[in-house]
This record gives sequence, C-alpha cells and structure tokens, in this order.
Amino acid sequence: MDLSQILNELGEERSGYFNAVAPPIVQTSNFAFDTVEDLRRAFADEMGSYIYSRGLNPTTDILRRKLAALDGAGDALVFANGAAAIYAGVVPHVKAGDHVISVRSPYSWAQRTFDQILPRWNISTTYVDGTDIRQFEEALRPNTSFIYLESPNSWNFAIQPLAEVAALARSRGIVTLIDNSYCTPLHQRPHELGIDLCMQTATKYIGGHSDTLGGVLTGTPERIRRIFELDYLAVGSGIAPFNAWLLLRGLRTLPARLERIARTAQEVIAWLKQHPKVARVLYPLDPGFPQYELARTQMSGAGGLFTITLKGGNPERITRFCEALQHFLMAVSWGGYESLVLPKCAGIDPAAFDPANEEHQYIRLYCGLEDAAYLIKDLEQALERF
Ligand SMILES: *Cc1c(COP(=O)(O)O)cnc(C)c1O
Repeated sequence: MDLSQILNELGEERSGYFNAVAPPIVQTSNFAFDTVEDLRRAFADEMGSYIYSRGLNPTTDILRRKLAALDGAGDALVFANGAAAIYAGVVPHVKAGDHVISVRSPYSWAQRTFDQILPRWNISTTYVDGTDIRQFEEALRPNTSFIYLESPNSWNFAIQPLAEVAALARSRGIVTLIDNSYCTPLHQRPHELGIDLCMQTATKYIGGHSDTLGGVLTGTPERIRRIFELDYLAVGSGIAPFNAWLLLRGLRTLPARLERIARTAQEVIAWLKQHPKVARVLYPLDPGFPQYELARTQMSGAGGLFTITLKGGNPERITRFCEALQHFLMAVSWGGYESLVLPKCAGIDPAAFDPANEEHQYIRLYCGLEDAAYLIKDLEQALERF
C-alpha cells in the first residue's frame, strides 16, 4: 500500500464520527451492548470487538492498522511504551528450560529481561556480536527457541545480516524478533527479509514531539492474536487512547521529519569528520562505517542518531564538552524535535573509566529539527572548551 495512503487514509472511517478530519479520542474504559447475544459474540472474539479498552479501543485501532501496514505485516499491537512491546514479543515465545540468542548490548530493558527475568524460568541467553552469521550458528543449541536482534544497535550501530539470520532461524523453527527503532519501517523492512516480529518504540520517531511514550509489535495475524489473547490482556500494557491519538498525529509527518533530520545529521557529521578534535564518527550510512556495505543493502536511510569520540576523551573533558553545549539538551531518548547529547560516561563510575575502552568515550548525539548551521555553531563552541 502507498505510504501516503497509509498515513492519511488507512483506518480512518470519518463518516462514523461527523466527518471529522482528525479522529476522535474515544476516551472510554468500556463499551455497552444491546443484547446478550451481541455480548456473547464479542466475548467469543475479543480481538474483533470493542468490549473494554485494556483490549481494543477505536482510537488505538486506527493507529494499529496504520502501523501494521507500515511494517508490511498482517497485524500489530500498540503498547504503552517500547519496553512493554519487547516483553510481549519475547516472553510468549519462550518456555522453561529454553535458550535464547541475543545480539550483544541490546536496549537496556531487553538485556534485563534476558539477564534477570528469563532466568526465573531457567532460560539462559547467549550474547553474540551478531555481525557475522557464523556467530549465530555457533551459539545455537538444541533448545534455542528465540533470537533477539537490534539492527542497528542504538549506541554503536552494529548490524546483523538479517536475511541470513532469518533463514537460519526458520530452518530450525526458532522465532526471531528485531528492535527496528533506529530505522523505523521507512528505512528498514525486516519482515520482507524473513524476520517474524518487528518491534519499535513509538516514543522516538513516530511520536516525534517528545510528549508521549508508545511501542509497536507487528507480525502475522495468528502470532499477534496469540499475544493479544493472553500476555497483552494479562499484563495490561496497551496504550491509552490519548497517547495513541498523539502518535497518530506524529505519524502524519514522519516521512517529512525523517527526511529533514537525516539531511541535518549528514551535514553535521560531515562537519564533525573534518574537525581536528574529533577521533571517530559512528553512523551506519557513513562510508567509513565498518559495516557500511551491509548497511546499504538492508537500510534505505539512517536518521539523526550517531555517536562520536573525541581525541583524548576522559570524563572531565567529555563533561566540559557536553555541559558547554547550549542547544543539544542532555537527555536520554531521541527521535523528537530537539537535538540531544548523551555521554556514555554518565553511566560509568569515574573510577572505572577506562580510556583504552572506546565505548567509555562514546558521546551519542541526536539531531532534531533545528537548522544544521545552528547545531554546528553550538558544537564548534563546545569543542573549543573540550
Ligand atoms: C527507547 C528505546 C526502546 C524502549 O522504548 P520505550 O518507549 O522507551 O519503552 C527500545 N529500543 C530502543 C533502541 C530504544 O531506543
């Protein structure tokens, strides 16, 4: 389906709500029925009915249909946040005694799910670098039931060969999930490469205005229905109608924002690369990126998030640089209108900082909707303080 049709028309049945151009926020907990028979029919098919907003809600459903279509998937579920979508994507697909393969350093709450929650059921996880299919082959065990991917990774942008991993997993009945937050379905289409489940945080690019959280999980109708009928309803982590409405609003401008953000990021990166104090810029679609060739085959764009290191970076100098920035807010997250900076060393005890470990020196930058020249000027003065 055409992208414009998905964003502007799909799922919007305006005659049902006064021909309003913007859909209503159906702010209700429950839905009333005229007959016992109607109620019975709804109970028999909760996924095809509006009964109670922990399940389906009309505002959320418009978003759900658009997000499924955007991913080229049969169906979607929309969650209160991305972490909830990860949990609901992983937990229903593993059982006691299973084994999981995950890419190294996935999103922090995915990692905690593997390290602290799954071991409750004696489920172990092997972490792999994930840049080469052989690493997955070597990590396989007879009880491997799930492979967790994040491509690119949101700090070092490491990439997994998605089609190869999907083929390996399918040949053994292993379920695959990718965190596709970095690319969004506009820049990477994992279902077309054979990945079973696509997860993304809607908090970032889809919302785009740093005013709501949200998460998405897409897959076949059968798989999504199984998740809905048990884990989704049991945990109750579906999105609220108002937040779904904010995400619908954000979605309208997603292509325009991503295009602008990517162009700004490329200008800023080109400037940073020629700066004498900059040691390295990590951006998957930069020709200097170690996996540039693979990135080009899997991704059609790379957005506004990238990582830099500075020559002679230590906690004091990195702190001076980050605190000198006037227009990059120091904050977690990304994908909004505002540019951001996040130094890795903020999460490291200064006594444990290892200057030989490049990751300790990572400074993650996100370019928002400001002018590139405005951001470059800010970086220029902050680099003078470094
Ligand atoms: C932010 C983020 C998440 C989690 O999403 P929330 O909406 O914050 O729960 C997952 N993966 C990546 C890569 C993220 O950046």
